[in-house]
Amino acid sequence: MPKLVNPHGGGDLKPLLLSGEERVAELQRAQSMPKVRVSSREKGDIIMLGIGGFTPLDGFMTHADWQGVCDGMRTASGLFWPIPITLSTDAATAESIKAGGAIALVDPDSDDILATMQVSEKYRIDKSHECMTVFKTADPEHPGVRMVMDQGEVNLAGPIKVLSQGGFPEKYPELFMSPAQTRSIFESFGWSKVAAFQTRNPMHRSHEYLAKVAIEVCDGVLVHSLLGNLKPGDIPAEVRTEAIGTLIQRYFVEKTVLQAGYPLDMRYAGPREALLHALFRQNYGCSHLIVGRDHAGVGSYYGPFDAHHIFDQIPKGSLETQPLKIDWTFWCYECGGMASARTCPHPDEQRLLLSGTKLRKMLSEDAPVPAEFSRPEVLAILRKYYAGLEADQKVEVKLVGHSAR
Ligand SMILES: [Zn+2]
Repeated sequence: MPKLVNPHGGGDLKPLLLSGEERVAELQRAQSMPKVRVSSREKGDIIMLGIGGFTPLDGFMTHADWQGVCDGMRTASGLFWPIPITLSTDAATAESIKAGGAIALVDPDSDDILATMQVSEKYRIDKSHECMTVFKTADPEHPGVRMVMDQGEVNLAGPIKVLSQGGFPEKYPELFMSPAQTRSIFESFGWSKVAAFQTRNPMHRSHEYLAKVAIEVCDGVLVHSLLGNLKPGDIPAEVRTEAIGTLIQRYFVEKTVLQAGYPLDMRYAGPREALLHALFRQNYGCSHLIVGRDHAGVGSYYGPFDAHHIFDQIPKGSLETQPLKIDWTFWCYECGGMASARTCPHPDEQRLLLSGTKLRKMLSEDAPVPAEFSRPEVLAILRKYYAGLEADQKVEVKLVGHSAR
């Protein structure tokens, strides 16, 4: 029987989350350690390390790893890795921490201890070098660049022991899955060739089409939703995953698709993030990653197909998981169906093209959205969300007016 792809690095999954007595004992030890409050991005990385999504890393990267990853997408040991996974703190806190000592990493949302780290190294980085190599820009308007520029001045490296899942399993009981869990579900379905569909948006007809193209050539699709932080103004994970769940139930064949979520924040690193998306999907058991137009991009920092090309530029064998490169998709009135720029010969006037901004405007004004763009069940959920937002805003306006008097 064909098997699922191997975890990254070729060995077994390496979840760093402790359990049982071992966890209780480490939590006890952590109480007396110096505490470092982590950022939202670092929290996502810790949870991911905990569940084995970043196999085979054993913690946060050293200076040599950071340098190698920025310059050539390799850690010091030669492991393929496209984006630095680092932890930082301010200079004063770093001063009080000894290399060789242990620290406790604290959840920014709940003050719980997420993990402990054996600090092997403290180091400073050239932040603009990281931005220029990873994001291809140092423009402070780029949300990923801003994250790096705003982080602490000193990076702390070392192996970690993860003690908590940061509230994700409680908040998303059906969606939050570890790589071991998705692998076991794929095996129970008899899947070996699995495509991951990465999403941080609700799925409209074009996304449904991408997923179905993948189902035509694979055993199944993992619709994998980002549960960490996005840009302000994006649709929250709860609303998005409800809309996706309804779409799957109404328009997909049973056991051809699994919806799950993962805990990372978006970095918006475009092509390099597409590689990271493929890398951790390999750990989740996916042999393919659907890579559409401007994957993991933001604004106009990346060319529409840079994320396709980068898979041809990395050395062969860097990743087992391969891209399913798909062009821009849409409904074409002349073709009379869903099509892509590769299959439809007609001009833009025949194609139904709606920008995200235009769609948001239509939904919040309760204007009709063409059925060729999105399924009615999906639109109903999004309209309800936007209607709720409007009500909130009205209440706010009233309160301000009242207190002003
Ligand atoms: Zn056409």
